[in-house]
Amino acid sequence: MTEQHFQGLTSQEVKKLQEKFGKNELVAEKKESFLHKVLHVITEPMFLLLIVAATIYFILGEPRDGAIMLIFVVGIIGIETIQEWKTDKTLKALKDLSAPQIKVLRDDCEKIINSCDLVPGDIMFISEGVKVPADGVVMKASTLAIDESSLTGEAEAVWKVSKENCDSNDADYWRKDYCYAGTLVTQGTGIILVDKIGSATEYGKIGQDVISAPDNPTPLQKQTSKLVKLCAIIAAVLFIIVGIVTYFNIPDHAFTDRLIESILSGVTLAMAMIPEEFPVILTVFLSMGAWRLAKKHSLVRKLPSVETLGAVSVLCVDKTGTITMNKMSVREVWSLKNDTNTLTKIMGMGCKPDAYDPMEKSMITFCEEGGITRDILFGGELVKEYAFTDELKMMGHVWQNHSDITVAAKGSPERILTICSLTDNDRKIAEKKILEMSKEGLRVIAVGQMKISEESNIPDKLTECSLELCGLIGLADPPRESVKEDIKTCTKAGVRVVMITGDNGVTASSIARQINMPNSDKIITGDELNKMSDEELRERVKEVNVFSRVVPEHKMRIVKAFKENGEIVAMTGDGVNDAPALKHADIGIAMGKRGSEVSREAADLILLDDNFSTIVETIRDGRRIYDNIRKAIGYVFTIHIPIAFASLLAPILGINPSSLLLLPLHVVLLELVIDPTCSIVLERQPAEDDIMERAPRNANEKILTTKTLTKSIIQGVVMFGASFGTYYAFLNNNSTNAPLARAMGLTIILLANVLLVNVNSSDSDYAIKSFAKLKKDKVMWTVNFGTLAGLAVILYTPLNSFLKLAPLSLSQLILAAVISAVSVLWYELVKVTKNIRKQSKYSYLSQ
Ligand code: ADP
Ligand code: MG
Repeated sequence: MTEQHFQGLTSQEVKKLQEKFGKNELVAEKKESFLHKVLHVITEPMFLLLIVAATIYFILGEPRDGAIMLIFVVGIIGIETIQEWKTDKTLKALKDLSAPQIKVLRDDCEKIINSCDLVPGDIMFISEGVKVPADGVVMKASTLAIDESSLTGEAEAVWKVSKENCDSNDADYWRKDYCYAGTLVTQGTGIILVDKIGSATEYGKIGQDVISAPDNPTPLQKQTSKLVKLCAIIAAVLFIIVGIVTYFNIPDHAFTDRLIESILSGVTLAMAMIPEEFPVILTVFLSMGAWRLAKKHSLVRKLPSVETLGAVSVLCVDKTGTITMNKMSVREVWSLKNDTNTLTKIMGMGCKPDAYDPMEKSMITFCEEGGITRDILFGGELVKEYAFTDELKMMGHVWQNHSDITVAAKGSPERILTICSLTDNDRKIAEKKILEMSKEGLRVIAVGQMKISEESNIPDKLTECSLELCGLIGLADPPRESVKEDIKTCTKAGVRVVMITGDNGVTASSIARQINMPNSDKIITGDELNKMSDEELRERVKEVNVFSRVVPEHKMRIVKAFKENGEIVAMTGDGVNDAPALKHADIGIAMGKRGSEVSREAADLILLDDNFSTIVETIRDGRRIYDNIRKAIGYVFTIHIPIAFASLLAPILGINPSSLLLLPLHVVLLELVIDPTCSIVLERQPAEDDIMERAPRNANEKILTTKTLTKSIIQGVVMFGASFGTYYAFLNNNSTNAPLARAMGLTIILLANVLLVNVNSSDSDYAIKSFAKLKKDKVMWTVNFGTLAGLAVILYTPLNSFLKLAPLSLSQLILAAVISAVSVLWYELVKVTKNIRKQSKYSYLSQ
């Protein structure tokens, strides 16, 4: 059967079928309705408080205040809904980008489509590493083996045959000429006619809901929701205290008035205390972070990984393709019998005719350059294939040309030499040559052949052959140019780079030396690893950075050893067998280009360009994002202090409820400013200069450390002192002019807020510098100017009477500006002393 028989579907047919059968998904994606979203927003405690406050205004017979309150409420719903909608959109786009894909035949040409768009009748192509996306009939199979353990529990892979070659008519439920969704291709290729999709598949029938695993809250989200709850409890307690105090403060009012005023001041305080921005910060920062990473070729599949990235302390990477360019070229050819021509020819015959492995490609090119064409190499009939496995590390082809049968084998020299018949002297010469080539950093491949007289004499396994050694091939795969610099960066950042390779130790060590990896001469080989106990391995990994001749199963042990030493491990992998190690690592990184579908599915992160530099860049971004979250949480904490304290202290000082610094209206107004300021300005903060010069963050560290908390409280208290003090002084001066006193206090808080964002953008860089970094950023300008413009509007337009504010004179405005500047910018002096101390420590160290 030839491929012309397959025509595939046309676009029109696909469209019709899609309408009929829907998407190839186990469960249809649930869409949250707009109403649902709004409902979600208004059932939050903050919202209920707002509604209570607005209602009270209406009951009080102040519908104007109630109405303004409601407008603010709508504003906040608006901001939250837009933010949520944007986050959802971002996350959906990310999901789409990392969705599994499959090659199909449509409109007479091969296309890659998202697996969810498959329809019954499609012709799909599967190959090693693919997770079968739908049920279908095998039309053509070439050494196609499928692991069906996810369905049948059978560990052994099943050899599939095409429909017409299937002789078994037995009543076996699981057919040999049929592929099942959810199973895994471990070897070979096949052409499949899709029969059933989505929940109609056997996999779908079982109802295994693996695909739509719910997005669990991240560790940070759990931490902050605890924090929010704690604040809410404190708020509830203070609500009662403030309510009672207020009640006794106004004995001259009527009972209902007293009651309403006390509830109102309690509500104000509660509103001021609940840091409802925390969860918003997390989702926005993490999803925006993931989005920014995607633009830099690193696709985050699981949101919590964005947090974990910043804590990575060990980076285990494959050598070939990640550290090196994966551009192999034949550098050296050494023939045992001085017959380079035969050596080259056998080497070529040992390659796959449709080679996709860069090494085999370069070998075939080398043959062609030497005048040995593909016709000479692959002209005969391929009668047997000894497949490459990671354990064997060699492979072979048996070619028949008329009566001439030749085994052409190639692979790692250690393995090939064990099946070669050689004189002791020849073996010594070969071994010496192998070492010589390896030391130059070349990948050494041994090539051997065997003549066979009759087809029936072809051995079943490669290991049963007795080869004649033709010679050795030395292939160069130079390290990527940027790797040296990246290793330096990682070392400075306290991130250890560990190289893992199937190549031999000498080659690996030579490459490690070329890129200046520390301890490049210390190596653990796969064989040594097999003999080591877990405890021994745990000790050894403390200093060894190169693992050679490993098989994917070893990666799992390496990850475990590092994790048990308390490290946070990122591990790359591309093969089918790498999946368990990728899952086990804190950050599993799959390759977008050369990786298998299965490894991508197991990974937390997909590297679209397979480049080591991108990993380093991603870690840097992970640190930046975490830094910014920390800054934002600190900022929110700080800014809530003057607001909460004002509401708390006023009743205690016996201030008349109508003269309060912050009426509920003003609290809502401030909340309206805080949310966008932090989530927009702080999310955009670029990385600090020393971000890759710090040690990795301790993964168990709380987001709000004692240090951050102390800083936030001090900053907040100073701001409170400045705003409330000024307000109180003005009020004592003229107790009838509460609006003026309030305008002073509010202006100070708002101006201080703008300054605070810039001061808290960095712990060590001065505010001016952080500001300058974003000076081309329109959004930041918009937010800062927006706040100032907003302030002008509420002070100097008729709106001021609605908001119970009085316009400030120029000198009052300047006074407010100076006070707010002092109340925030003092922290710049702390930075100065910090930097001086750091400087002197540094110069002391460098002496
Ligand atoms: P890496 O982890 O560096 O990618 P591999 O696992 O791909 O290494 O290869 C390990 C070893 O297996 C190689 O050093 C080589 O000796 C052997 N090998 C790899 N691919 C082939 C091949 N196509 N034919 C023969 N030998 C191979
Ligand atoms: Mg490889």
